[in-house]
Amino acid sequence: MQPSAIRNPSDKVMQEFFQDTSPYAIEAIPLVVPRPEHGISRANISENALKVLYRLKQENFQAHLVGGGVRDLLLGHEPKDFDVATDATPEQVRQVFRNCRLIGRRFRLAHVHFGREIIEVATFRGTTTSDGDENDRQMENGRILRDNTYGTIAEDALRRDFTVNALYYNIADFSLIDYADGLEDIKAGRLRLIGDPEQRYREDPVRMLRAVRFACKLGFTIDPKSEEPLFRLGHLLADIAPARLFDELIKLFHSGYGLGVFEKLRQYGLFGQLFPATEACLAREDHGFPITFVSRGLANTDKRLHEDKSVTPAFLFGVLLWEPVRQRFEEYLAGGEAASEAMFLAASEICSRQQSLVAIPKRFSLPMREIWSLQPRLEQRDGKRPQRLVTHPRFRAAYDFLVLRADAGEADPELAAWWTRFQEASAPERASMLEGGGAKRRRRRPRRRKSGESAGAGAEATGPVDGG
Ligand code: ATP
Ligand code: MG
Repeated sequence: MQPSAIRNPSDKVMQEFFQDTSPYAIEAIPLVVPRPEHGISRANISENALKVLYRLKQENFQAHLVGGGVRDLLLGHEPKDFDVATDATPEQVRQVFRNCRLIGRRFRLAHVHFGREIIEVATFRGTTTSDGDENDRQMENGRILRDNTYGTIAEDALRRDFTVNALYYNIADFSLIDYADGLEDIKAGRLRLIGDPEQRYREDPVRMLRAVRFACKLGFTIDPKSEEPLFRLGHLLADIAPARLFDELIKLFHSGYGLGVFEKLRQYGLFGQLFPATEACLAREDHGFPITFVSRGLANTDKRLHEDKSVTPAFLFGVLLWEPVRQRFEEYLAGGEAASEAMFLAASEICSRQQSLVAIPKRFSLPMREIWSLQPRLEQRDGKRPQRLVTHPRFRAAYDFLVLRADAGEADPELAAWWTRFQEASAPERASMLEGGGAKRRRRRPRRRKSGESAGAGAEATGPVDGG
């Protein structure tokens, strides 16, 4: 790959750029790689993204593919989506495309719809700070609250997060434009923030989560200067809107690399910022079943995603929050509550604390709570209960959850095995299983009052426990 122009901005220049004092970056000379010298082919770009790019060009706007699409194509991965950057304003984009909707207040964007595919079209972001106009960039304590100041492609490039996300594929001549040494970092497998890392994390703390996600997804190492603040700045996540954190967590844990993400988030102390109650349990019992349970749950989710099977946030958050719920449940049981009431109280308590950090929409939190509330009910195998339970809409998820608990050494493996057999059994076989008195083999007695026993202790004796 022969560079047509070389540019090497020093860290100092970058820092000045981000303090909006230096005109340098606006005049920065990018590395431009002509079509024959890079591997991006139109054959690998979605037809709809190409339509958007060509149409904008036809209207005399600049149009580039940017972000994850370019990055993933260079790495030989299939891009998840295609993002377009242009000098057309969102309103101008809307005038060009009938199938277009403008979204976002914090960061105004145009979405061009083609059936199920959405091409995201962003206007180049600029660097001027707010003059009070509500459409401008607004800052608070170093954090960007709103960023709707438009600028040039050079400014846009340096406002992006990682160098590997700031590469542009120019539809005008099919060249690749690199303002931030992104190509070098792609080759080195390195994730590096553009500009001063701490300042960039403070501007938008979600970039810390994005660092973890891209490191896991791409198998890249995080450059030491970009990595170091991750250990210190996790507390900034408390300022992020809970709804945005929910969306980001789904991207993190439903990426197919959830287990790696979990381990990295814990390594940087970020997991505890997002799930303090869970982290407290994990920190106490680093080698016990809670960590095995979460790890296996995430590994299962990754496996399902790699097999193109469906996954749901209800199960994911059910797994991530189970240990604090279970501990509170045990405490309520010990205090004399009946199992169903104990579970209701424990779930309400943990959910309301969690909700202030990460907003789990009701359509996921309700089935999540059902999965939990079915756990003690799966222990009741007397009478007609099992027959009724298998018809419950959440039975399958609750059963999978029980199997996971048993595999992690927390629940009784015999109970999980009984339910496996029961589901597979014919009607007469089921009848004999029920007569066989499954209920008598119940380990826990959920309705017994004033129980001082912990289910965990017993389970550890019978089930496999992660020895680290
Ligand atoms: P993927 O789509 O594979 O998850 P992506 O890099 O395309 O990864 P998007 O969230 O689709 O990520 O964002 C598109 C591009 O917008 C990014 O590549 C990056 O250049 C820019 N971007 C997104 N979020 C931020 C952010 N918080 N700060 C700075 N730039 C961002
Ligand atoms: Mg993208």
